[in-house]
Formats: sequence, C-alpha cells, structure tokens
Amino acid sequence: MKRIGNLYFHGGRNKRQIALTFDDGPSEETEKILDLLKKYNAKATFFVWGERIKGREKIIERMIKEEHEIGNHSYEHKRLAFKSKDYIEKDLKKLDEKLSQFNIKTNLFRPPKLSMFYNLFRVCKKLEKKIIICDVISHDWKKPGIEKIVNKILRKTKNGSIINFHDYIEGVGSNKDIPAIIEQIFPKLKDNYRFVTVSELLDFNSS
Ligand SMILES: [Zn+2]
Repeated sequence: MKRIGNLYFHGGRNKRQIALTFDDGPSEETEKILDLLKKYNAKATFFVWGERIKGREKIIERMIKEEHEIGNHSYEHKRLAFKSKDYIEKDLKKLDEKLSQFNIKTNLFRPPKLSMFYNLFRVCKKLEKKIIICDVISHDWKKPGIEKIVNKILRKTKNGSIINFHDYIEGVGSNKDIPAIIEQIFPKLKDNYRFVTVSELLDFNSS
C-alpha cells in the first residue's frame, strides 16, 4: 500500500485486485455504470458530490443495495486548498449528514480537484477521514476520446490500483462516454483482477 500520512494512493501490489472510483455523481450515466458493474459482478466506490444528490436519491439507494461504497467528495465541490477550516468542516459535515439519511457513514474523502493544503488535512484528521487519491487517472473530464482513455487505463493498471473516473463532469454535464469506457475495460481486466471497494482494497474494515 502506498500511503503518505493520511493520503492513500493505491493498495498492495501483491494482490490481484483493483478499485474503480467514480467522482462527481450521481448523474444520468450512473445507472448505466451500475448495470455494467452488476453484469461483471464488480464493486466500485462512488465519491459523490452533495449538491447532486437531490432528485437522484434512488441512484444512491441502488448503490447501497448493490453493495457499492460511497465516499465523501464534499457538498459544494469547491477547491478546498485555501478555504478556512470552518468552511471545510461545515461542507464535509453537510454531506455526511445528507448521507446519514441513507444510513451511510463514510470515513473516505476525496478532495474536489485534489485541491488540498493544511486546513484540509487538519479537518480530515479531526473528522477521522482518510484522504483517497489514486494511482491511475483517466483524465476522462478532458474528453480525449474513449479509445485513448481505455488504452491508458489498460497500460497503467496494476495490482492494487485505484482508478479515477467521473460519472459527471463539472461545467460539462453527465459523462456520456463513461459507460462505453467501462464496457471496454471490463472484458480486458476481469480475468486478471477482482474489482473491490476502496475500503476492501486498502483493508480498512479489518483495522
Ligand atoms: Zn470532483
């Protein structure tokens, strides 16, 4: 496992398992992702954006029912590096409260745009959040084309990888490419890896 302080980059390189993560949803594409995960008997982790939950509660309920993991990706999705501790704490707690309505309690946090500095580290420590980074970045929000993304994922993924995707792209909308990307990587990765949640990959539940 690669860990620096409270930041986690990937799991152990000795086990044939990986974690798919989806940021910024839920969105209109999320259900298609859930269909594919079901088809391949895979689990994933969704770092949800608080403001996007309203009107999409059913999608959150489906994630839970199908045993995926949900992590905190902030309520307002602002760059947090230079926000006050007060702002950060309120924002993270606001999403935690929203998630508690679904009986979810998460200790996983992924900072929006991976923007972070001391205030965020202090608040995460106080709220006992683990900061989940990744070692494979799809750059899907830049829309470089499906083939390019698929090839990059296949090239970079190794045992223990945490792969970053988006089911929604800020300023753009639902990530329409994401179901096709997932559909293409599954057949190529499924014989080599188990698809597990971040907590399972990093062995958080047993500690
Ligand atoms: Zn985000």
